[in-house]
Amino acid sequence: MAYDPNNVFARILRGEIPCKKVLETKHSLAFHDINPQSPVHVLVIPKGAYVSMDDFSAKASEAEIADFIRALGEAARQAGAVEGGYRILANNGANANQEVPHLHMHIFGGRRLGRMIDRPSS
Ligand code: AMP
Repeated sequence: MAYDPNNVFARILRGEIPCKKVLETKHSLAFHDINPQSPVHVLVIPKGAYVSMDDFSAKASEAEIADFIRALGEAARQAGAVEGGYRILANNGANANQEVPHLHMHIFGGRRLGRMIDRPSS
């Protein structure tokens, strides 16, 4: 999938749309999800133009990857999610219902999160 430079997270990175920032690093940005699914719901994105984890893991530099993982952990700490526990999740492509075509890792916390994924009803 080609990167769409007009996706909503690209627009946040360019400052065209506001966000509730949690933290910013050299290569990453973390902000609160606009439609939170749990008391803590933070998104962490790389600043580079990567569609998905597939794209990022294949093409990002070591520095970008290290920065992203550090930012993820620090965002969870700053959001107060560590003590009670949290879940990280990245939707990748159609089967996962990825809506925004710019890699983002969700951090969910602040409540019991239930089982890992929905089982299909038969
Ligand atoms: P996904 O289904 O993994 O692609 O998730 C996309 C997420 O982006 C959803 O949880 C949305 O609520 C969130 N989202 C969409 N637009 C914005 C925005 N302007 N600011 C913050 N979060 C957003």
